[in-house]
Amino acid sequence: MPTSDIETVVVGGGAAGVAAARHLHQSGIRCLLVEARSRLGGRAWTITDPMGFALYLGCGWMHSADRNPWVAIAEEQRRTIDKTPPPWRRRSLAYGFPEGGQREFLEAQEQFFSRVAGRAQHDPDVAAATMLDPRGRWNNLINAVATYISGTELDCISARDFDNYDDTGVNWRVVEGYGATIAACGAGLPVMLGCAVQRIDLTAKRLKIHTVQGVITADQAIVTLPSAVLAEAEELFSPTLPEKIEAARGLPLGLADKLFLALAEPEEFEKDSRFFGATDRTATATYHLRPFGRPQIEVYFGGRLAMELERAGENAIFDFAVSELTKILGSAFAHRVKPICVHRWGSDPFARGAYSYARPGKANCRATLAAPVEDRLFFAGEACSTTDFSTAHGGWITGMTAAKQSIAARARV
Ligand SMILES: Cc1cc2nc3c(=O)[nH]c(=O)nc-3n(C[C@H](O)[C@H](O)[C@H](O)COP(=O)(O)OP(=O)(O)OC[C@H]3O[C@@H](n4cnc5c(N)ncnc54)[C@H](O)[C@@H]3O)c2cc1C
Repeated sequence: MPTSDIETVVVGGGAAGVAAARHLHQSGIRCLLVEARSRLGGRAWTITDPMGFALYLGCGWMHSADRNPWVAIAEEQRRTIDKTPPPWRRRSLAYGFPEGGQREFLEAQEQFFSRVAGRAQHDPDVAAATMLDPRGRWNNLINAVATYISGTELDCISARDFDNYDDTGVNWRVVEGYGATIAACGAGLPVMLGCAVQRIDLTAKRLKIHTVQGVITADQAIVTLPSAVLAEAEELFSPTLPEKIEAARGLPLGLADKLFLALAEPEEFEKDSRFFGATDRTATATYHLRPFGRPQIEVYFGGRLAMELERAGENAIFDFAVSELTKILGSAFAHRVKPICVHRWGSDPFARGAYSYARPGKANCRATLAAPVEDRLFFAGEACSTTDFSTAHGGWITGMTAAKQSIAARARV
């Protein structure tokens, strides 16, 4: 397709961009999906390890699976859906965390969530940390769990936004990979890979989209860039759109990274079980043992700990995990684990983090970010969702909404 003949350009080929481009393409709109990376999927990324297992470096769980649009796509692609309940909805293994302590922790966490639900919508919108019990024995562990959920600690998170998240509590996995499903959904769409967008010029009747591969002209664009990328892109729009950059700054990407370890003699552990590295501090990882029954451990780090470990390098990430594991399981355990891979999402220039959270007082930034400009510039991506943010299905829903808005705007011209 000549790049001057495009009606709508979709910027960014993650969950939101793929959903938007697919809907436009199916609706007969001449669209083009432009993606900076050499692959589709963005923060949804599946790789195959040397043993042939699909590893999810980014999203893995189809959250709210009973209403998650990616489930139907995975089924269309004849993928295998695994409905084993996730480890976090079951008891942890008892290592260093006896039953009684687990009960107390779950109760304290439940009370914290209830306080958030009861107060979060009151003015002013404050940090979620203010709703911790000031004398709570389990505050550090509740905070650690927040770093897995939001990629940051509770003192940084808007309580209102945290409360706005809508979770049906049903979580499934695609055995072949969530990322693989999302990338495959883009097959057959008009796509330019390795095509980073540098500037979107709104000064003429048709948009001029400057990319590393030249200028594309189009009537409309749907921008699905991660909020952390937008926050740093003051010069992306010409004329500048300060309200969009400000909104993106209210919605930073928290950080979460996964380290995959090969595990010798895995039978000792229950399939799909987990434990925390420590129960008395926030800077701790969570260990998912034998995902799908595989001889592996998926280690999950979040928040400031993930930032520090990213800075220190991949060896430091592995060493941290081994130090927590050996403290719990004994020094001989060090010989049973070997690193397979880790991806540092904070250092990834096309992501700059894992998933969005709202700063205290900034919950309304999601709606501001999502609002169309001049009926020809539309916004999507997980950070634009007010209830399904931070997820791949939030990406899909906002991508579909932006595609429909753009089609409706065409009809008004
Ligand atoms: C470790 C980790 C675990 C996660 N776990 C889950 C989970 O279990 N379940 C879940 O639902 N979600 C999870 N997520 C979050 C989920 O992956 C994201 O919310 C979702 O994939 C975001 O989709 P998106 O389309 O909004 O953004 P992205 O996937 O980031 O898409 C944006 C695209 O824009 C591209 N881009 C960037 N800059 C440019 C440019 N200048 N020009 C052109 N293109 C550009 C990027 O390369 C990217 O492909 C996880 C994420 C991480 C990192």
